This record gives sequence, structure tokens and C-alpha cells, in this order.
Amino acid sequence: MGEVINPATGEVVAEVESTPAAEVDAAIARAAAAYRSWRDVAPGDRARLLRRFAALVDAHLEELALLEVRNAGHTIGNARWEAGNVRDVLDYYAGAPERLTGRQIPVPGGLDVTVHEPLGVVGVIVPWNFPMPIAAWGFAPALAAGNTVVLKPAELTPLTALRLAELGRAAGLPEGVFTVLPGAGPVVGERFVTHPAVRKICFTGSTEVGTRIMAGCAAQVKRVTLELGGKSANIVFADADLTQAAATAPAAVFDNAGQDCCARSRILVQRPVHDRFLELLEPAVRGFRVEDPALETAEMGPLISAGHRDRVAAHVDGARVAFTGVRPDGPGYWYAPTVLLADSPADSHWRTEIFGPVVSVLPFDDEADAVRLANDTEYGLSGSVWTRDVGRALRVARAVESGNLSVNSHSSVRYWTPFGGMKRSGLGRELGPDALHAFTDVKNIFISTRE
Ligand code: NAD
Repeated sequence: MGEVINPATGEVVAEVESTPAAEVDAAIARAAAAYRSWRDVAPGDRARLLRRFAALVDAHLEELALLEVRNAGHTIGNARWEAGNVRDVLDYYAGAPERLTGRQIPVPGGLDVTVHEPLGVVGVIVPWNFPMPIAAWGFAPALAAGNTVVLKPAELTPLTALRLAELGRAAGLPEGVFTVLPGAGPVVGERFVTHPAVRKICFTGSTEVGTRIMAGCAAQVKRVTLELGGKSANIVFADADLTQAAATAPAAVFDNAGQDCCARSRILVQRPVHDRFLELLEPAVRGFRVEDPALETAEMGPLISAGHRDRVAAHVDGARVAFTGVRPDGPGYWYAPTVLLADSPADSHWRTEIFGPVVSVLPFDDEADAVRLANDTEYGLSGSVWTRDVGRALRVARAVESGNLSVNSHSSVRYWTPFGGMKRSGLGRELGPDALHAFTDVKNIFISTRE
């Protein structure tokens, strides 16, 4: 690790030391010790601490946003939303400690109640594409449920997580309750998986690493939540509001430079409107503002690294390019928004998660064909359906094997609704009312009333 680079300029913005293996173990031991008292903090007090944490994030929103612009190349508009999302997720789960109720179940000869017990130390492993929100989706509900947290940010983007940990301490979280440990996946992340005191892993990242983490967790029957890759379909029927569908399609895939697990990177267009849709899409793509992400007008910034840009470019090599958008010259890891025409669903750019500003377009014939093509992928994270026919919208939304569908919209993420993937896009759900239970085990207690 060491140098942290601004991807818009290639300049070094900070030096961050990797956590040595011995210090990872020591931090996990501190988190395990802190758990013993944290789980017993009165629900109302735990809630108050989380609300204070949220208020401090809010007070530092601009600072956090600017840090993310410099570290990850996110547009300032997105980065403000991301810091605000951390605040909102903390506020939302601050409502949980007093509401983490169990049940009373009728039984003969006594009283039967269930309680939701925290798990212990939770290890949160975060990718580089959305460093702030993805961290909060793990640590906020985990802390609210009474767990302590060790969190590993991605090697390329540790700065906002480190700042959030400072804000948590300033809000009054006791030492060891929330610790951020920057470092390499195979050192820090893997130790979370193998250390017996870490009782759950909350992982977001590639399907490849997630699969490996799940196998590692199996050795200890460690709980695991996985948020993995995607190759989501944007299905445009002939009866849709084509103007709106074409105007919104670029942001649905090029937002965050396409480094978004929910990116609608496969556009399926019903054959009679395929050419017209492309005509409408072209000006929207050419007009997509790719520029210095610190500018208020920026809609897309650079890719995260030179290596990643090379990988994205390799996926486009040899493919049929319909048209591209613009990109600035000069330093930084820029890549122009690119629209590819797929010849068949066998094309590698149609099947592979490129994780860059590249979208593939393919025509379809009818509803059954659209569903078949949309589901012809190992992934199942999100997707969109554009049609004016309500019945069809619901049929297709139900038939597409994805965790998050939107109709005549591309929204996937609200902190109070569940988020997560089907198939190889993941396991478990984050956000919303149910995520809390993924950080607890249900305990059943029977109390005899026999004399
Ligand atoms: P990655 O899998 O390479 O890394 C993710 C995290 O895991 C990093 O912190 C990394 O250091 C760590 N890691 C790497 N090897 C490890 C190991 N052996 N043990 C433990 N930890 C290890 O992913 P990335 O390149 O940072 O992120 C891009 C991927 O994340 C894409 O596939 C994307 O779709 C996915 N993603 C999914 C979601 C979702 O919610 N489903 C959200 C964002 C990103």
C-alpha cells in the first residue's frame, strides 16, 4: 500500500501504511474485549451514540465528499450524496436498538420468548467503488445490533473510512467498537475470515474473491453476507417512453464511470424501436459530461487506476463500437463512455462485468425473449424495465432474476429498502428493515411456569 493516488490527476494525495498482521490480531482482540461492554450498553444510549455519529458525519459532509473526490475521482455531486448516505444509514439504524424486539410464542407449561443476540466482532470488507456507503451499510446495522466492527477499506481508497472512524470516536463510540484497518486483502481481509473471534464477514467486492471468502467462512461456520458483481439489464419495450428511456440510460451505466455493481450495462431494446433508440441515445452519450470531478457540472470522473483503465480497454478491443462520448486529455485515468453493439449474447462484452463506462446493446423480439436474455447471466443484482403497460412491467419485474428491479426508472438504492443480489451476485440483503437481523442470531428461551 503506501501511496494513495488521485485518479483524476495521477498525483499522490496521501500515504497510508498497511496494518501489519500482528496489529490486525491485536485490533480484533480489542474489538472482542470492547464487545463485552458494548452489547450491554442500554439500547437508548447506543441509539444516542449512533445519532451523534450521524450528526458529526453531517457536520463534516463537505470535507468527506471532497476527500472522496480526491481519493476515488467521484464527482462532487455523487460524493456529497455518498457522505449523506452514511449519515442517513446511521440515523436509520440508530432507530434500531430500542426496536430490536423478539417474539412471544404460545407454548404449554411456560413462556417462550425469542431474543436477537448480537454476534460479536463483525469484519466488514469494502471495495474501492463506493468506499463510504458500502462501509456504512455494514458498520451501521452491525453496531446498532450490539456488535463491534473491524473494517478493511480497499487498498486504493482508505481515506474516507479512516476519517469516519475518527468521527465515530469523536461521537463517543468507546475504543475498540469501530476500528478501521487499512491493508491488503490477502493480509487484513483474509485474517478477518480466519480469525475465530470474528463471527461474521460482511463482504462487498468481486464474485471471485467473495466465493473464496465464503469458502473460508465455511471452515468456521462463520456468518457471511456477500454483495458481489453484476451485469444488469435495462429492458426497453417498444411501447416505452423512448425519449425518457434514452435520456436516462447513460447515467444508469456511466454513473461513477460505470464502476457500479448495479450498472445497467446490457441494454435490451425491442427490435422495432432499436434503431430509433440508438438515435436518441447517441446525443445523450456524447453530451455526458466527463470532466474534472471537482466541477459542479461533472457527470463522470476518471476510472480508479491506470491498471483498471487497461482492463476496461481490453474488453472493448475488437468489439463493434456504435459511438462514444468525450473524455479529457492529459493526466488521470480517463475513459470515454462507450456504446457497443452486441452481435449475440455470446459476445464477451455482453457477458463479462467490465466495471467501466461501457454498455452493450442487443435487440429482442418479445417479452419472453427479453426475459430469457436478461436472465442469461450468472449475475442477478439489479435491472430496469421500460414500458407503459403496467401488467407487463410487473410480469417482467417478477420474472427477471435480480434482487433490485426498477420500472421506468433506474433507482436501486434507498437506505430504507432492501438491497442485494440473486444468483452469483450475492447472498443476504443489506439496508432496509431486515438487514439488522443479519447481524444477530435468534435465541429461543423457554421459562417453565410449573409449580
Ligand atoms: P475485490 O473483490 O478485488 O476487493 C474487494 C475487497 O476485498 C477489497 O477490500 C480487497 O482488498 C479485499 N480482498 C481481496 N482479496 C481478499 C482476500 N483474499 N480475502 C479477504 N479480502 C480480500 O473487488 P474490487 O475490485 O475492490 O471491487 C469491484 C467489485 O465489487 C465488482 O465486481 C463489483 O461488482 C463489486 N461490487 C458489488 C457491490 C454490491 O453491492 N453487490 C457493490 C460494489 C461493488
